Amino acid sequence: MNPELLSILRCPCDPTVTLEHRETGFVCTRCLVEFPIRDQIPCFLIEEASLPGGTRRIADLPCRKAEKTNG
Ligand SMILES: [Zn+2]
Repeated sequence: MNPELLSILRCPCDPTVTLEHRETGFVCTRCLVEFPIRDQIPCFLIEEASLPGGTRRIADLPCRKAEKTNG
């Protein structure tokens, strides 16, 4: 993975948070959600991601909670 490319990848829940590249996928450095890599193509859909232990709902993720709810 190109380090420059990795540096521009962001958590889909919060564009200020970076992702960390692991063997099995990309992990958000804040909410720890892991986005899988399938056939060498990363999937950044939150619905497809693996939630960290203890988190049951997407809405409970720190990045999601940080979202402004105005409007
Ligand atoms: Zn996140």
